[in-house]
Amino acid sequence: RLEIRDLVRRFDGRTVVDHVSLSIAPGHVTCLLGPSGCGKSTTLRMISGVEMQDAGTIHVDGELVCDTVFRVPPERRSIGMMFQDFALFPHLSVGENVGFGLSGPGSERRARAKTLLDRVGLAHFIDEYPHQLSGGEQQRVALARALAPRPRIMLMDEPFSGLDNRLRDGIRDETLDLLKEEGTSVLLVTHEPEEAMRMADEIALMRDGRIVQQGAPYNIYNAPADKEAVAFFSDVN
Ligand code: ATP
Ligand code: MG
Repeated sequence: RLEIRDLVRRFDGRTVVDHVSLSIAPGHVTCLLGPSGCGKSTTLRMISGVEMQDAGTIHVDGELVCDTVFRVPPERRSIGMMFQDFALFPHLSVGENVGFGLSGPGSERRARAKTLLDRVGLAHFIDEYPHQLSGGEQQRVALARALAPRPRIMLMDEPFSGLDNRLRDGIRDETLDLLKEEGTSVLLVTHEPEEAMRMADEIALMRDGRIVQQGAPYNIYNAPADKEAVAFFSDVN
Protein backbone atom coordinates (compact mmCIF):
# COMPACT_ATOMS: atom_id res chain seq x y z
CA ARG A 1 0.00 0.00 0.00
CA LEU A 2 1.17 3.47 -0.92
CA GLU A 3 0.27 6.32 1.39
CA ILE A 4 1.24 9.90 0.78
CA ARG A 5 0.20 12.61 3.20
CA ASP A 6 0.18 16.34 2.63
CA LEU A 7 2.95 16.41 0.07
CA VAL A 8 4.07 19.92 -0.78
CA ARG A 9 6.58 21.12 -3.36
CA ARG A 10 7.48 24.72 -4.14
CA PHE A 11 9.59 26.11 -6.96
CA ASP A 12 10.77 29.70 -6.69
CA GLY A 13 8.11 30.53 -4.11
CA ARG A 14 5.32 29.02 -6.22
CA THR A 15 3.51 26.01 -4.76
CA VAL A 16 3.17 23.44 -7.56
CA VAL A 17 2.10 20.52 -5.34
CA ASP A 18 -0.14 21.65 -2.54
CA HIS A 19 -0.94 19.20 0.27
CA VAL A 20 -1.59 16.17 -1.92
CA SER A 21 -2.72 13.04 -0.04
CA LEU A 22 -3.44 9.63 -1.55
CA SER A 23 -3.77 6.07 -0.33
CA ILE A 24 -3.58 3.19 -2.81
CA ALA A 25 -4.33 -0.39 -1.80
CA PRO A 26 -2.49 -3.41 -3.27
CA GLY A 27 -3.89 -4.34 -6.68
CA HIS A 28 -5.61 -0.99 -7.03
CA VAL A 29 -5.10 1.68 -9.65
CA THR A 30 -5.45 5.36 -8.86
CA CYS A 31 -5.33 7.79 -11.76
CA LEU A 32 -3.97 11.23 -11.13
CA LEU A 33 -5.87 13.18 -13.75
CA GLY A 34 -5.42 16.82 -14.58
CA PRO A 35 -4.34 19.42 -17.14
CA SER A 36 -0.79 20.11 -18.20
CA GLY A 37 1.28 21.82 -15.53
CA CYS A 38 -0.98 20.95 -12.58
CA GLY A 39 1.81 19.09 -10.77
CA LYS A 40 1.28 15.43 -11.69
CA SER A 41 4.84 14.55 -12.67
CA THR A 42 6.29 16.47 -9.75
CA THR A 43 4.10 14.39 -7.41
CA LEU A 44 5.38 11.17 -9.00
CA ARG A 45 8.99 12.31 -8.81
CA MET A 46 8.69 12.93 -5.08
CA ILE A 47 7.20 9.48 -4.54
CA SER A 48 9.94 7.82 -6.58
CA GLY A 49 12.51 9.75 -4.59
CA VAL A 50 14.31 11.64 -7.36
CA GLU A 51 12.83 14.85 -6.02
CA MET A 52 12.58 15.96 -2.40
CA GLN A 53 9.32 17.31 -0.98
CA ASP A 54 9.14 20.49 1.07
CA ALA A 55 6.60 18.93 3.42
CA GLY A 56 4.61 15.74 3.85
CA THR A 57 5.29 12.02 4.26
CA ILE A 58 5.40 8.90 2.10
CA HIS A 59 4.80 5.39 3.47
CA VAL A 60 5.03 2.07 1.63
CA ASP A 61 3.31 -0.83 3.42
CA GLY A 62 3.30 1.16 6.64
CA GLU A 63 7.03 1.90 6.51
CA LEU A 64 8.20 5.49 6.38
CA VAL A 65 10.01 6.04 3.10
CA CYS A 66 10.43 9.77 3.24
CA ASP A 67 9.67 12.83 5.32
CA THR A 68 11.53 16.11 5.35
CA VAL A 69 14.36 14.67 7.45
CA PHE A 70 14.53 10.95 6.69
CA ARG A 71 14.84 9.66 3.17
CA VAL A 72 15.14 6.15 1.71
CA PRO A 73 17.06 6.40 -1.59
CA PRO A 74 15.04 5.79 -4.79
CA GLU A 75 16.56 2.38 -5.54
CA ARG A 76 15.51 1.01 -2.14
CA ARG A 77 11.86 2.07 -2.21
CA SER A 78 10.41 -0.98 -3.99
CA ILE A 79 8.89 1.36 -6.53
CA GLY A 80 8.77 0.57 -10.23
CA MET A 81 8.40 3.24 -12.87
CA MET A 82 7.19 3.57 -16.40
CA PHE A 83 7.25 6.75 -18.42
CA GLN A 84 6.22 7.82 -21.87
CA ASP A 85 9.88 7.91 -22.76
CA PHE A 86 10.51 4.42 -21.46
CA ALA A 87 13.91 4.07 -23.19
CA LEU A 88 15.30 0.58 -23.15
CA PHE A 89 19.10 0.30 -23.11
CA PRO A 90 19.96 -0.03 -26.81
CA HIS A 91 23.21 -1.93 -26.25
CA LEU A 92 21.59 -4.62 -24.08
CA SER A 93 19.46 -7.50 -25.33
CA VAL A 94 15.79 -7.66 -24.44
CA GLY A 95 16.51 -10.24 -21.75
CA GLU A 96 19.34 -8.15 -20.30
CA ASN A 97 17.09 -5.11 -20.26
CA VAL A 98 14.44 -6.94 -18.27
CA GLY A 99 17.00 -8.42 -15.87
CA PHE A 100 18.93 -5.17 -15.48
CA GLY A 101 17.65 -4.10 -12.07
CA LEU A 102 17.88 -7.56 -10.49
CA SER A 103 20.55 -8.93 -8.22
CA GLY A 104 21.81 -12.52 -8.06
CA PRO A 105 23.59 -14.77 -10.54
CA GLY A 106 23.12 -14.24 -14.29
CA SER A 107 21.20 -17.49 -14.76
CA GLU A 108 18.62 -16.46 -12.15
CA ARG A 109 18.23 -13.01 -13.65
CA ARG A 110 17.73 -14.52 -17.06
CA ALA A 111 15.13 -16.97 -15.72
CA ARG A 112 13.18 -14.12 -14.12
CA ALA A 113 13.45 -12.11 -17.34
CA LYS A 114 12.15 -15.10 -19.30
CA THR A 115 9.17 -15.46 -16.94
CA LEU A 116 8.23 -11.80 -17.34
CA LEU A 117 8.74 -11.83 -21.11
CA ASP A 118 6.48 -14.88 -21.27
CA ARG A 119 3.81 -12.92 -19.44
CA VAL A 120 3.89 -10.15 -22.03
CA GLY A 121 4.09 -12.65 -24.90
CA LEU A 122 7.63 -11.77 -25.97
CA ALA A 123 9.82 -14.61 -24.66
CA HIS A 124 10.98 -15.36 -28.20
CA PHE A 125 12.64 -11.91 -28.32
CA ILE A 126 14.85 -12.53 -25.30
CA ASP A 127 18.10 -12.40 -27.29
CA GLU A 128 17.04 -9.71 -29.74
CA TYR A 129 17.91 -6.04 -29.36
CA PRO A 130 15.46 -3.17 -28.75
CA HIS A 131 15.83 -1.69 -32.25
CA GLN A 132 14.51 -4.97 -33.70
CA LEU A 133 11.18 -4.49 -31.89
CA SER A 134 8.15 -2.33 -32.70
CA GLY A 135 7.16 0.53 -30.41
CA GLY A 136 4.41 -1.54 -28.80
CA GLU A 137 6.73 -4.46 -28.25
CA GLN A 138 9.32 -2.19 -26.68
CA GLN A 139 6.64 -0.82 -24.38
CA ARG A 140 5.80 -4.34 -23.25
CA VAL A 141 9.49 -5.05 -22.60
CA ALA A 142 9.59 -1.86 -20.52
CA LEU A 143 6.61 -3.15 -18.54
CA ALA A 144 8.36 -6.49 -17.99
CA ARG A 145 11.50 -4.63 -16.88
CA ALA A 146 9.54 -2.48 -14.43
CA LEU A 147 7.86 -5.56 -12.93
CA ALA A 148 10.94 -7.79 -12.74
CA PRO A 149 12.09 -6.71 -9.26
CA ARG A 150 8.52 -7.23 -7.91
CA PRO A 151 7.91 -3.63 -6.90
CA ARG A 152 5.12 -3.05 -4.39
CA ILE A 153 4.30 0.26 -6.04
CA MET A 154 4.20 1.16 -9.73
CA LEU A 155 4.31 4.75 -10.88
CA MET A 156 3.31 5.40 -14.46
CA ASP A 157 3.57 8.79 -16.13
CA GLU A 158 1.55 8.80 -19.36
CA PRO A 159 3.13 5.49 -20.35
CA PHE A 160 0.80 4.88 -23.27
CA SER A 161 0.77 8.26 -24.94
CA GLY A 162 3.39 7.38 -27.54
CA LEU A 163 1.34 4.50 -28.97
CA ASP A 164 -1.36 4.44 -31.64
CA ASN A 165 -4.94 3.88 -30.50
CA ARG A 166 -5.32 0.28 -31.52
CA LEU A 167 -2.08 -0.80 -29.89
CA ARG A 168 -2.79 1.27 -26.81
CA ASP A 169 -6.03 -0.47 -25.88
CA GLY A 170 -4.39 -3.90 -25.92
CA ILE A 171 -1.40 -2.79 -23.89
CA ARG A 172 -3.54 -0.97 -21.34
CA ASP A 173 -5.55 -4.12 -20.65
CA GLU A 174 -2.48 -6.31 -20.54
CA THR A 175 -0.73 -3.94 -18.17
CA LEU A 176 -3.71 -3.79 -15.83
CA ASP A 177 -4.05 -7.57 -15.74
CA LEU A 178 -0.39 -8.02 -14.88
CA LEU A 179 -0.32 -5.35 -12.20
CA LYS A 180 -3.48 -6.65 -10.54
CA GLU A 181 -2.18 -10.21 -10.60
CA GLU A 182 0.99 -9.05 -8.84
CA GLY A 183 -0.99 -7.05 -6.28
CA THR A 184 0.90 -3.87 -7.10
CA SER A 185 -0.41 -0.47 -5.99
CA VAL A 186 -0.51 1.67 -9.11
CA LEU A 187 -0.46 5.43 -9.49
CA LEU A 188 -1.06 6.32 -13.12
CA VAL A 189 -0.70 9.87 -14.36
CA THR A 190 -2.69 11.01 -17.34
CA HIS A 191 -4.30 14.13 -18.74
CA GLU A 192 -6.81 12.08 -20.74
CA PRO A 193 -10.14 11.53 -18.95
CA GLU A 194 -10.87 8.62 -21.26
CA GLU A 195 -7.75 6.78 -20.12
CA ALA A 196 -8.55 7.39 -16.46
CA MET A 197 -12.15 6.19 -16.92
CA ARG A 198 -10.87 3.04 -18.52
CA MET A 199 -8.09 2.13 -16.13
CA ALA A 200 -8.78 3.57 -12.71
CA ASP A 201 -10.37 2.07 -9.62
CA GLU A 202 -10.21 5.59 -8.28
CA ILE A 203 -9.62 8.95 -9.91
CA ALA A 204 -7.93 11.88 -8.19
CA LEU A 205 -8.69 15.04 -10.10
CA MET A 206 -5.83 17.50 -9.81
CA ARG A 207 -5.73 21.19 -10.58
CA ASP A 208 -3.19 23.90 -9.70
CA GLY A 209 -1.31 21.50 -7.44
CA ARG A 210 -4.34 20.39 -5.47
CA ILE A 211 -6.60 17.34 -5.54
CA VAL A 212 -10.01 18.88 -6.10
CA GLN A 213 -12.06 15.68 -6.23
CA GLN A 214 -11.45 12.01 -5.59
CA GLY A 215 -13.57 8.91 -6.02
CA ALA A 216 -14.77 6.08 -8.25
CA PRO A 217 -14.60 6.99 -11.97
CA TYR A 218 -18.33 6.95 -12.57
CA ASN A 219 -19.07 9.00 -9.48
CA ILE A 220 -16.71 11.68 -10.68
CA TYR A 221 -17.95 11.47 -14.24
CA ASN A 222 -21.57 11.71 -13.15
CA ALA A 223 -21.07 14.37 -10.53
CA PRO A 224 -18.03 16.52 -11.27
CA ALA A 225 -17.19 18.83 -8.38
CA ASP A 226 -17.35 22.10 -10.28
CA LYS A 227 -17.60 23.76 -13.69
CA GLU A 228 -13.97 23.22 -14.53
CA ALA A 229 -14.27 19.51 -13.80
CA VAL A 230 -17.37 19.36 -16.02
CA ALA A 231 -15.44 21.01 -18.84
CA PHE A 232 -12.54 18.66 -18.32
CA PHE A 233 -14.77 15.61 -18.69
CA SER A 234 -16.85 16.97 -21.55
CA ASP A 235 -14.80 15.19 -24.21
CA VAL A 236 -15.41 11.71 -22.76
CA ASN A 237 -18.33 9.69 -24.04
P1 ATP B 1 2.15 17.71 -17.95
O1 ATP B 1 0.79 17.10 -18.07
O2 ATP B 1 2.38 18.77 -18.98
O3 ATP B 1 3.26 16.71 -17.92
P2 ATP B 1 2.38 18.02 -15.06
O4 ATP B 1 1.05 18.04 -14.39
O5 ATP B 1 3.14 16.76 -15.03
O6 ATP B 1 2.19 18.53 -16.56
P3 ATP B 1 4.67 19.12 -13.64
O7 ATP B 1 5.72 18.63 -14.55
O8 ATP B 1 4.50 18.43 -12.35
O9 ATP B 1 3.25 19.19 -14.40
O10 ATP B 1 4.95 20.66 -13.37
C1 ATP B 1 4.13 21.44 -12.51
C2 ATP B 1 4.65 22.86 -12.47
O11 ATP B 1 5.90 22.90 -11.81
C3 ATP B 1 4.88 23.45 -13.85
O12 ATP B 1 4.42 24.76 -13.88
C4 ATP B 1 6.39 23.37 -14.02
O13 ATP B 1 6.86 24.42 -14.82
C5 ATP B 1 6.87 23.51 -12.59
N1 ATP B 1 8.15 22.81 -12.40
C6 ATP B 1 8.35 21.48 -12.47
N2 ATP B 1 9.63 21.15 -12.22
C7 ATP B 1 10.27 22.33 -11.97
C8 ATP B 1 11.62 22.68 -11.65
N3 ATP B 1 12.58 21.74 -11.48
N4 ATP B 1 11.91 23.99 -11.48
C9 ATP B 1 10.96 24.94 -11.60
N5 ATP B 1 9.66 24.68 -11.90
C10 ATP B 1 9.33 23.39 -12.09
MG1 MG C 1 3.98 15.56 -16.55
